[in-house]
Amino acid sequence: MNLSSYTALAVRLANTAAHASGEPDPLGSPSACACALGDWLAGPVTRRDLDVLRHVRTEFNAIFQAAAAGDDQAAMDRLNALLIQFPIQPEMTNHGQQRWHVHLASQGSAGDRYAASAVIGVSVTVSGLGVSRLGVCAIASCPRVFIDASPGKSRRYCAEHAAARGNVSNLRREPADLARRAAPAGGGPASAAPRPAAPAAS
Ligand SMILES: [Zn+2]
Repeated sequence: MNLSSYTALAVRLANTAAHASGEPDPLGSPSACACALGDWLAGPVTRRDLDVLRHVRTEFNAIFQAAAAGDDQAAMDRLNALLIQFPIQPEMTNHGQQRWHVHLASQGSAGDRYAASAVIGVSVTVSGLGVSRLGVCAIASCPRVFIDASPGKSRRYCAEHAAARGNVSNLRREPADLARRAAPAGGGPASAAPRPAAPAAS
């Protein structure tokens, strides 16, 4: 398995924050969590796992928001903090008659394993595609995040709204404008000045 595919875990986790107001938090109970994250979770979910996953969810949303606002440094500072908190243990495997490839060793609780997989997935994806590929839905009222893997870097909507984009009228401001207005979500100096149009980091 390509480690970048684990990025989907980060998107799925981050977007559990988008539950409608009045509805219970998908990370509010072990059963709801198992339902929301499904077979991506290995093993039983404890209260501590819920705390871990809610923390990582907050961080991923902050990372995607910072990246979408053009504040790459803030996004990567938070990602680096997660890499320290959730170390991985790589191992080589050739299960299912596949060629030998890198997997993550099964270690830690369900929450820790999910978090570590999601963190390395986002890290590998950013390494390959650039920070600017971390996106937030262009619909102003939608907080959902996505990975823009399109060849022309043209994706603007979350998975939920990608099909309905023709009817959208209430769009977010452009990233440069957001960057000027954005306040840091906590920790670290703000680098909110609009950045020049630079190529994506590789
Ligand atoms: Zn959306």
